[in-house]
Amino acid sequence: MQKTNFDIVIVGGGSAGCAIAASLKKRAPELDIAIIEPSEKHYYQPAWTLVGAGEFDVQKTVRPMAECIPSGITWLQAAVTNFDPEQQRVAADKLGNISYQQLVVAAGLKLHWEGIKGLTDTLGKNGVTSNYRVDLAPYTWQLVQQLQSGEAVFTQPPMPIKCAGAPQKALYLSCAEWLSKGQLGKIKASFYSSTPALFGVKEYVEPLMQYIRKYQVDLKLNTTLVEVDGPGKTAWFNVKDTDGNVQRISKSFDMLHVVPPQTAPDFIKQSPLANADGWVEVDQHSLQHARYPNIFGVGDCTNTPNAKTAAAARKQVVIAAENLLATRAGQALPSRYDGYGSCPLTVEKGKIILAEFGYGGKIVPTFPWDSTKPRRSAWWLKKYLLPCIYWNLMLKGREWLARCGACG
Ligand SMILES: Cc1cc2nc3c(=O)[nH]c(=O)nc-3n(C[C@H](O)[C@H](O)[C@H](O)COP(=O)(O)OP(=O)(O)OC[C@H]3O[C@@H](n4cnc5c(N)ncnc54)[C@H](O)[C@@H]3O)c2cc1C
Repeated sequence: MQKTNFDIVIVGGGSAGCAIAASLKKRAPELDIAIIEPSEKHYYQPAWTLVGAGEFDVQKTVRPMAECIPSGITWLQAAVTNFDPEQQRVAADKLGNISYQQLVVAAGLKLHWEGIKGLTDTLGKNGVTSNYRVDLAPYTWQLVQQLQSGEAVFTQPPMPIKCAGAPQKALYLSCAEWLSKGQLGKIKASFYSSTPALFGVKEYVEPLMQYIRKYQVDLKLNTTLVEVDGPGKTAWFNVKDTDGNVQRISKSFDMLHVVPPQTAPDFIKQSPLANADGWVEVDQHSLQHARYPNIFGVGDCTNTPNAKTAAAARKQVVIAAENLLATRAGQALPSRYDGYGSCPLTVEKGKIILAEFGYGGKIVPTFPWDSTKPRRSAWWLKKYLLPCIYWNLMLKGREWLARCGACG
């Protein structure tokens, strides 16, 4: 019979869920910990941008979940449907109620593909792609190679999204490829973003604008993709002016790279754990729930105003593990999260601007360098070192680079 009562239950076995399980187990091996996670597979999503540029093997971004659940942790393969924080239990499909003394919510966010009319009918065909889906990132690379001339349109939805730089990364790497083949000019690239600025941290805007100019990108801000007609090769956008008036425009495309709108998962939105916007409501420094002290939140599913990245999760899990165990022991919370997040902006093939920042847009570089400069060393870090750190350290409770700033 399946056990239904644990010291600690973790909802979600993605980047944050597996990492905090490992960090907790390392600190307190005697605790009985379960991860509730429905998926057979675990993904290293940060490499999908490189897959879309022909720079990374997609197979190396996926591993069986069974290999990623840390040893000594029980994996309950099911999806949580309800939270009952008063009774200290969650309901999971297939399993029923699972009780806990302490809970960690690490269920990621929802990619809301249906939020753009016509999109789901045409994703993966008619030149419409997205690096936000593991099966479509290779299609991005296929389209980049096939396109000889015409309009290539890249879009970014309203914030918050995971890895806010990823929509631009797809743009720059595609343009770099076309430039190297002498095709830029015959191929015209556009970047239409819902945001009012190219990047949320002002120090990085001008360095990125240099690439917008270099690749002759038609940049439109405050412009949100709302509808796609794949066979008709047309996209529609709502453009907001400074008075808040909205105008509908259309744009024809030969290639369209879409990043979907993103929200909290529905089962969190509808639960007592959510804030008004649907995210798990935690204190942004302690990561403890605002109303339930025995609940913590880590990763993309929370309301903390950091950049939603695996780099942020790597730091958060250490803070949350220490604070959770202190709560358990009736002690004061020892650790504070500074909002660290990181976005390795792949501006050229072989060069990255490694944006690293905390709450309030404060730049917190890991290395003693000017982080607004594109660097080859940062490319090597992202392409070769960080995947190893992810699989072999972060998911195993070895907290190297988790204490001191550090990359994505
Ligand atoms: C294209 C792309 C590029 C990116 N680039 C970078 C980068 O360069 N650097 C960086 O640091 N980050 C990057 N990220 C972001 C990074 O991957 C995420 O921020 C990170 O994975 C968040 O971890 P998480 O555990 O919160 O969510 P996830 O890793 O998404 O895991 C959530 C888990 O919860 C599970 N789950 C969902 N619903 C339920 C349920 N009902 N019950 C139980 N479990 C459930 C899911 O199956 C999943 O396993 C990128 C992401 C994308 C898509």
